[in-house]
Amino acid sequence: MQTEDRIMAYGGGWLDRAGALRADPGWIAGRLADPGSVVLPLWRDRCLVGPDRVPVRRGVADAAELLAAAGETVFLGLDDGAAVFAVDLSARAEQEARELAGADEAVDVRALVGGLGPAEAAVQAYARGLLHWHRGQRYCGGCGAATVARDGGHTRSCTGPGCGRLLFPRIEPAIIVLVEAPGTPGRCLLARHAGAPEGAYSTLAGFVEVGESLEDAVRREMAEEAGISVAEVSYQGSQAWPFPAGLMVGFRATAAGEEVQVDGVELLEARWFTRDELRERVAAGRPLGRVDSIDHHLLGSWLAAGD
Ligand SMILES: [Zn+2]
Repeated sequence: MQTEDRIMAYGGGWLDRAGALRADPGWIAGRLADPGSVVLPLWRDRCLVGPDRVPVRRGVADAAELLAAAGETVFLGLDDGAAVFAVDLSARAEQEARELAGADEAVDVRALVGGLGPAEAAVQAYARGLLHWHRGQRYCGGCGAATVARDGGHTRSCTGPGCGRLLFPRIEPAIIVLVEAPGTPGRCLLARHAGAPEGAYSTLAGFVEVGESLEDAVRREMAEEAGISVAEVSYQGSQAWPFPAGLMVGFRATAAGEEVQVDGVELLEARWFTRDELRERVAAGRPLGRVDSIDHHLLGSWLAAGD
């Protein structure tokens, strides 16, 4: 585990994903029969939580009804040797799902962050992302036949005659960039995004397109959204963002000039901030982005890196 992962929510490699073992259906069946294994129920991208908003976690001996009701059961990994499975109750109505799980509420994991330990938040986000993928991949894009899960839920394969196409969980990478102005004093570019609350500024981001490297995507997005060309581009870290399928890849880049021209569509306004200005905003109670986001991390490390 890397230090970077400890800092950022939803990552951290908390489970041994047992990639070689999960391909064996007999091994998976054995884990599902092992009383030491645990089951996490989810409903339509939400955690099912009990008292104190703690996600429900059942031993398999106590989960026969949940397993029977599940649309999909996926193996997440081994936690200190104990298998952890997620079950999808999305086909049920919310109340029925809550009753099956013995849960009080169905809540997005991002609304629980801060109240959950980092491992619990990461495992719930992982379960959410994997189950979301299954629900959207029930038919083959090649021949239209039904697909079935295998490898503990980490692959789907087409059942169509003569097809057999394999589907793998899809991850959609996006770049997120802290752009610095050339020269001194140090300033970074933050923007008001369409749809963001009034007065909320954040770093610039965008999806990577087909045929682009991550660095290509950084350069294109900065030119499209803010009308700036960037020279140096350096990798800062990444964050799992399975809401539903993201991987956020963080960069720092230096602009060739200071002139900014926003597109007026994705970005409404962009301007340069000194470190002092950002510190004043924080002191005035305006947080630097969502505390669980890589945006927050990029800004925090930039603030810590200079006067
Ligand atoms: Zn097919």
